[in-house]
Amino acid sequence: MAVGGHIGDMDLAAGPLLAQNVLDGGRSVLVALTPGERGHPRMSADDYRDQKIAEAQAFAAGIGAEVVVFDDISDGFLTTDDLVAERLADLIREVRPATLLAHWRRSIHTDHENASILAERARFLAGLPGWKDETERHGVGRLLFTENWEDATGFDADLFIEISAEAHRRWTEAIGGQAFARGETYGFRYIDFYTAQMVTRGCLAGVPHAVALSSGPTRGMSPLD
Ligand SMILES: [Zn+2]
Repeated sequence: MAVGGHIGDMDLAAGPLLAQNVLDGGRSVLVALTPGERGHPRMSADDYRDQKIAEAQAFAAGIGAEVVVFDDISDGFLTTDDLVAERLADLIREVRPATLLAHWRRSIHTDHENASILAERARFLAGLPGWKDETERHGVGRLLFTENWEDATGFDADLFIEISAEAHRRWTEAIGGQAFARGETYGFRYIDFYTAQMVTRGCLAGVPHAVALSSGPTRGMSPLD
C-alpha cells in the first residue's frame, strides 16, 4: 500500500514498484489523501478533481493496482488530524498490507509532510491492541519512504528494487495518462525525471532499472528536524 498526499505522487515515485509487485503476484493499493485538485493553473478545482480521479483510476487499472482517493479532503489542507489517521488505519486493517510506502518526512509541500506523519500514525493505530475491533488488528511489517524530488531534503536511499522490463513498460504506458505528469500543468517533466531516476538508480544497483527507497530512521526524527 502506497500513501500519497495527492493523486500522482505515489503513481510516479512508487508506481513502477507497484506494477512489479502485481507482476510478482502481489496486491498493490494506491491511496491519495487528497485528489490534488488545485494543481492545474487553467482548470477549476472542481473540474480538475474529476479529471484527477479518472486519471488515478486509469493509472491503477493500467498497472493492475487498486486505488482509494480521500476525495473529501481538500488539496493544500491535509492536516495530521487523528480522524484522518484513523480513517487510514481502518483502510490498513481492511487491506492488511505487508509493506506501507509513504512520503519522506521533509518536503516542499506540507501535504506531503503531513501525509508522511499520517502514514506512520495510521500504521501505529492499525496495530494497536484494544483499538476498535481487536480481531481486525493488523501490524504492517515495513514502512518505507519513497524517492520523490519534492521530498528530497535529507532523503537517503538505502534500498534498491529492480524493475523488470515489463513493469517498466506498464508504468510508462499508464503514467502517460496523467496530464500533470506529461507536463501540461506547470511544465515540470515528471515522466522524464522519474524515468531517468529509474535508470540512475539501476546503474547504482547494477540492473537496467530500479526504484530506490529509504527505510528510516523510523523513530526520533520529527518532520522539522
Ligand atoms: Zn503531491
